[in-house]
Amino acid sequence: MNFERIKEKINILADAAKYDVSCSSSGSKRTNKNKGIGDSSGMGICHTYTEDGRCVSLLKILLTNHCIFDCAYCVTRKSNDIKRAAFKIQEVVDLTINFYRRNYIEGLFLSSGIFKNADYTMERLVAVAKKLREEENFNGYIHLKSIPGASDELMREAGLYADRLSVNIEIPSVKGLKLLAPDKNREDFIKPMEKVKNEIIQYKSEKKLIKSTPIYAPAGQSTQMIVGASGETDAEIMYTSAQFYKNFNLKRVYYSGYIPISYDDRLPSIGTEVPVLRENRLYQTDWLLRFYGFDVREILNKEHPNLDTDIDPKLSWALRNLQYFPVDVNKADKRMLARIPGLGMKSVYKIMNARKFRKLNWEHLSAIGLALNRAKYFMVCDSRNFETKDRTAAQIKGLILQESKSKFSKTYSNQLNLFDSNLPLTI
Ligand code: SF4
Repeated sequence: MNFERIKEKINILADAAKYDVSCSSSGSKRTNKNKGIGDSSGMGICHTYTEDGRCVSLLKILLTNHCIFDCAYCVTRKSNDIKRAAFKIQEVVDLTINFYRRNYIEGLFLSSGIFKNADYTMERLVAVAKKLREEENFNGYIHLKSIPGASDELMREAGLYADRLSVNIEIPSVKGLKLLAPDKNREDFIKPMEKVKNEIIQYKSEKKLIKSTPIYAPAGQSTQMIVGASGETDAEIMYTSAQFYKNFNLKRVYYSGYIPISYDDRLPSIGTEVPVLRENRLYQTDWLLRFYGFDVREILNKEHPNLDTDIDPKLSWALRNLQYFPVDVNKADKRMLARIPGLGMKSVYKIMNARKFRKLNWEHLSAIGLALNRAKYFMVCDSRNFETKDRTAAQIKGLILQESKSKFSKTYSNQLNLFDSNLPLTI
């Protein structure tokens, strides 16, 4: 093995892979078997974040950064004058095993530019995973990128070796995709997602009848959207997201702020990065849709097409809908408790448990560990004083911002870590 050349390839192909943020690993139950290598069942694997919150975990590389396409937003596009490289299948297998044995990584995230055609590329990605599982007995986490346009047979095989599969939608709207990636069409993303969804359902139902049926993509499928490259509003982005969650049972949608990398009239100019705060707000909204029972139209609509930057989306919704407040914490159902700004689902369950034994007042709520600095304006309990009184939305917002001023910046910098921790957030 030529180590210098391998080192050079790693530099090129790991650098090219860093723009893909869809690599958090969770939900897989693959355990170590036959005295093999690795165990992805413990999870918590390979989650590290750069300062700007991007995931840089796993051995995260491209198989190649050669590509026949020319998507304007992508550093790997064929017209970009950059150093190119490609790994051989065995090289990726050896690197994964060697890094794993040295405890550098706990799994592999493998993506690729498209060389020759979709099937040729997908076949090689699958071959890496197959070799790792069958020849190296590797039971660690494998996340494979699905190449848009790959055949059904290859998608089927990919899910038998990988824990998670993902196809990146990249651009949230069809109009934006046409503008920035005219060679691609939305159908090429939809088809593999549909396939993966159906295979997961089919394998699960077969497993109920025949125990030896393998598990197909146990950590499900995810996707990534680039935010800010093609001018979509937050509403357009989140509507697309909600539709994909619903139609394809996605585990996660990742939002990646576009980093301007080229001079192109179709794209934002260099130096106009999307603020990390916009990504954070989208993740918070995503969380509200998946765990707090919100419908996307409640948070984003014609009157409110973009998320507020100074307050989180749940607080924003509550201030626009004061008619639903105050919520009586001793009587309200789970759905309404979850809508109180500042209360996470853990707090909701704490309230529901505690009120079985007594009527709760402010002291009780503090004693069970609730943070009331925001919530107190939106709820009543078995105490006389009620913080909302006749205050307007603007007054409540002012008071909350004033109170949280000192904590503000600290909260934001911690937020991304929380988003991937699988813990319900307090929003
Ligand atoms: S097909 Fe993928 S790798 Fe190739 S230019 Fe487009 S986004 Fe980049």
